[in-house]
Amino acid sequence: MGNRRNEIRSVAFVSLGCPKNLVDSERMLGLLANDGLTVTADAADADAIVINTCGFLEASKTESLAEIRQAIKLKEDGKCKRVVVAGCLVQRHKTQLLADAPGIDRLVGVFDREHIVQAVRGAKNPGQKDGHFLGKYHDMSRRLAAEAKLDGDAKQTKGSRLPVFEDDRARLRLTPRHYAFLRVSEGCNQGCAFCTIPSIRGPMRSKPIEHILAEAKELAADGAVELNLIGQDTTSYGTDIGYGPGLAGLLKTLDKSLKDVHWLRLMYAYPSCFGDEMIRALGESDRVVKYIDMPLQHINDKMLATMKRRVTRKEVETLLEKLRKWVPGVTIRTTFIAGSPGETEGQHRELVEFVRDFGFDMMGVFPYSAEPGTPMGRMEGQVAEEVKTARLEELMLTQQGIAFAKAKERIGKSVDVLIDRQEAGGKKGWIGRTAGQAPDIDSVTVVSGEGLHAGKLVTAKVTGAKGYDSVAEILGKKSRSLQVVG
Ligand code: SF4
Repeated sequence: MGNRRNEIRSVAFVSLGCPKNLVDSERMLGLLANDGLTVTADAADADAIVINTCGFLEASKTESLAEIRQAIKLKEDGKCKRVVVAGCLVQRHKTQLLADAPGIDRLVGVFDREHIVQAVRGAKNPGQKDGHFLGKYHDMSRRLAAEAKLDGDAKQTKGSRLPVFEDDRARLRLTPRHYAFLRVSEGCNQGCAFCTIPSIRGPMRSKPIEHILAEAKELAADGAVELNLIGQDTTSYGTDIGYGPGLAGLLKTLDKSLKDVHWLRLMYAYPSCFGDEMIRALGESDRVVKYIDMPLQHINDKMLATMKRRVTRKEVETLLEKLRKWVPGVTIRTTFIAGSPGETEGQHRELVEFVRDFGFDMMGVFPYSAEPGTPMGRMEGQVAEEVKTARLEELMLTQQGIAFAKAKERIGKSVDVLIDRQEAGGKKGWIGRTAGQAPDIDSVTVVSGEGLHAGKLVTAKVTGAKGYDSVAEILGKKSRSLQVVG
């Protein structure tokens, strides 16, 4: 009787953070469903709640803690039996997390996600006194990431390889069926002075190309016609496993092999090692969309050096110019950090002017967040919060003018749009994206017309602009449907 009362039959899953974490969530969901657990959307209705946390910034920690406390409250109210916390926050702040939220039943580290079923079912990890699933790589990742940084460049020594290979097949996906995230590597060796990722996720580990291909085919067979390639640093793909052709080779292979995939999109590129071969691969492959997401973080040379970005303003400009010249019509997305320690008003002005002059297609800005354990978090000259906010707003307003003007320039053009979903609130339009709009982060194209459904690719004429977004009408005769189920 007692056993039956504690039996776990259903699970609710909260996935926080970036697409890399989302892939982990999907993999864990796949394992849970495969073990016969019913996945439910309503946490109040579930026997167990899993929260896959983000621990990237202080703000993400606050968000994760709020979700965890909500789940614990449900347990205290007798609505659920077990609260399991996984992900980056576990890796980063295990002790603090247990002190802040003592109702947590099991922790699962980022290298231990394959144990999620045991954790949810209430088993104890025999290797840990407290029963949590924090295996032998839990503490090793930080040391190896530090070693990899000491190498001085993005190449990795054999000794620093973390023997963990993330196999992301057999996922229960949380994205709509027609697009998916395809992780090509995990961890990072770049060692940017503001970033906590290497200490959480460990040094760079590329997935062997045959595994990426198998996974891409599995996603395509599941209906994905758009694959978004992700990793902490996709540009360095292959350097740690001796795969000579690198990212360019990977893009070419995927382009040739995935006949049912319509769009392959490259996210999280790193500027210092984005070579000519990669630019060519972006321009020449049919399936690889003419889109690049390349976080630049700053443009002032002194700030770039402080951030340990291994790149100068001149090198960034040369690369961006080449991208625009060699890949006509390319969409360039970037992100910057506002108010890093030591950033002077003059350096901020240089960044604003650069943003205004270059005219990025898409841009995001984060306020600098002083993270414990990072070199910049300990630096003197931290910038006041109100100054950070003012600088962020100035950058975003500068970009807003550019983005609005670019949206207007698109009026009258014919574009291919992949439909994501119907507009909310009983509206008749459909939210879609062109090849120049990545899911979840970029602007959208709102299409009107008959016979639309999620996953359908249509040709439409842009008829207007609404701020960052485009408005379009389907060109009836030219519309075509992909081989996907909506
Ligand atoms: S490249 Fe990205 S993930 Fe890697 S250390 Fe720099 S900011 Fe962090």
